[in-house]
Amino acid sequence: MKFATKTIHSGVEADPTTGAIMPPIYQTSTYKQEGAGNHKGFEYARGKNPTRLNLEACIASLENAKYGACFASGMAAIDTLLKLCSPGDEVITSADLYGGTYRLFETLYAERGIKFHYVSEIDSNKVKPLLNSKTKLVWVETPSNPLLKITDIKAIAEILRDHSAIFAVDNTFATPYLQKPLDLGADVVMHSATKYLCGHSDVIMGALAMNDEGFAKEIYHIQNSCGAISGPQDCFLALRGIKTLHLRMQRHCENAKTIAEYLSGHKKIDRTFFPGLENSKYHFVARSQMADFGGMVSFCLKNNSLSAAHGVLEKLRLFTLAESLGGVESLIGHPASMSHASIPQILRKKMGISDSLIRISVGVEDVEDLLLDLAIALD
Ligand SMILES: *Cc1c(COP(=O)(O)O)cnc(C)c1O
Repeated sequence: MKFATKTIHSGVEADPTTGAIMPPIYQTSTYKQEGAGNHKGFEYARGKNPTRLNLEACIASLENAKYGACFASGMAAIDTLLKLCSPGDEVITSADLYGGTYRLFETLYAERGIKFHYVSEIDSNKVKPLLNSKTKLVWVETPSNPLLKITDIKAIAEILRDHSAIFAVDNTFATPYLQKPLDLGADVVMHSATKYLCGHSDVIMGALAMNDEGFAKEIYHIQNSCGAISGPQDCFLALRGIKTLHLRMQRHCENAKTIAEYLSGHKKIDRTFFPGLENSKYHFVARSQMADFGGMVSFCLKNNSLSAAHGVLEKLRLFTLAESLGGVESLIGHPASMSHASIPQILRKKMGISDSLIRISVGVEDVEDLLLDLAIALD
């Protein structure tokens, strides 16, 4: 089945009892047993819920995976993977990461004896020298947040081929519409389904997708034992959102490309970060592993000050100043005073997050309106 067909049909069938086209929301905590231990595979809803199973099958299908697992949030999904690490284990990752991921690594798992190696960019030359028998996990976010760096997934899979480390890709920014990390050699894909998968800024949810049966069993064991599951109402909303994933992504990508081109030619803008620009150093690898370039664009101003950035943000009318991304509406964020405010300025600068860096999640509105809003704000 092709992707657009999968978004609509995978994981769901007309309800056998009534013929309802959408699956029921099984709002139940437990299930009646015919006799003690005689049940239909459903005992207690932390372990299994039919609505969640529908969604897990759908997400697995989109990622060309055999197994899917849904969680209460993207962070809960990442936390599940980190629970596979023991004290003394090592993780290789990049410094350009979603802030919450960095916080989880540093304030919870580094404290418990897991060693994190942060490289400026994940490429085979940087990862190879750090690999050793203690390496348990290689964590890649591509495109990354907020600088939209691209990691060559195939190249990393190649150097990990004979190594036992788990290769995980945070596919939140790309979605399976643009990129399928398992096909490129990753072991597990993670999503903040909060973003593009749900797509309407009304759910917090996470997901994992994988192919190895033994590995999936470990994940389901943690999912059931720790209990950070997604509820049936949220699973229903995710299934509903995913039905238009391909349509939304197509427009997100089109709009983002138009906006990135506009920004890169604007006299007040110093740099535009978008892998779809031909002068981006990531353009070639992005083209090779993604179907298009995504809906996220970052830029910094020639007047590289906090106040200049704040001036732009205050004048925007259509772009809403808010954390998060991937919804139908355009959002704008200022890492230096929002997601990365807790990092000292000097460190931020080293990470490439300048004071005027602005990140936009380009929505699916009419791009003419978005361009006009930006033109007025930048004037
Ligand atoms: C939002 C986000 C997360 C965390 O997901 P939540 O659903 O907010 O817990 C992880 N990675 C990336 C890239 C994100 O954008």
